[in-house]
Amino acid sequence: MRRPLVAGNWKMHGTRASVTELIEGLSQQVLPADIDVAVFPSSLHIAQAVQGLSGKAVKVGAQDCAAQVEQGALTGELATSQLVDVGCEFVLVGHSERRLILGESDEAVVRKFAAVQAAGLIPVLCLGETREQREANTTLDVVGGQLAAVIDALGVESLSGAVVAYEPVWAIGTGLTATPEQAQEVHAAIRAQAAHFDAGVAAGLRILYGGSVKAASAAELFGMQDIDGGLVGGASLNADEFGAICRAAGN
Ligand code: PEP
Repeated sequence: MRRPLVAGNWKMHGTRASVTELIEGLSQQVLPADIDVAVFPSSLHIAQAVQGLSGKAVKVGAQDCAAQVEQGALTGELATSQLVDVGCEFVLVGHSERRLILGESDEAVVRKFAAVQAAGLIPVLCLGETREQREANTTLDVVGGQLAAVIDALGVESLSGAVVAYEPVWAIGTGLTATPEQAQEVHAAIRAQAAHFDAGVAAGLRILYGGSVKAASAAELFGMQDIDGGLVGGASLNADEFGAICRAAGN
């Protein structure tokens, strides 16, 4: 039985004041005991979130990291050992905004994924196709290729304890959500790809759906067989909405 995870990606949003408000709002939410909840503030606000959420059932992650564990001369980057030190437990790896806007390659994603695991953190590996790729019927090839980059380089065992997030690019921040059936098809393909190498790893792999998830759409998505929770962007900036999405993932 996979334990659902609902993750809130705050992206490049927030000030110290608005983050304080969001943390207070989150602290008041009744969260199901049978799921994991995590938020991913901007790097500037990670320490504030770790401190503000300490003792609450909400973990904290980072949105990105350097491809190395050790600290060193790499201006502007964050070593995964520094993320451990500040209290992170998760790191998003390969978010489509980083892949497509900042040009992050599969190779860079693989190196970051490895650095996250080497530091004892949990990577949330983001995969997804663009609208053009979906229209060209290449969704499963694109997503399969992104996953294969990790499996080929690091082995299927690297997925054990990791999290995958399927996030169709056309659904991120657009208000368009994949239908539960569209999402389920891709989630099942991701699990089958992992199962080809190791059925046990595949059965335990948490695969989140991301792309304009709202409280109104969450229950139906999370009810699908291979959807184990959500990666939530915009709606995670509203504590009540995010709390309702978390409750939709509980039993
Ligand atoms: C995301 O950024 O990971 C995301 C899913 O954003 P949104 O929920 O706003 O589409």
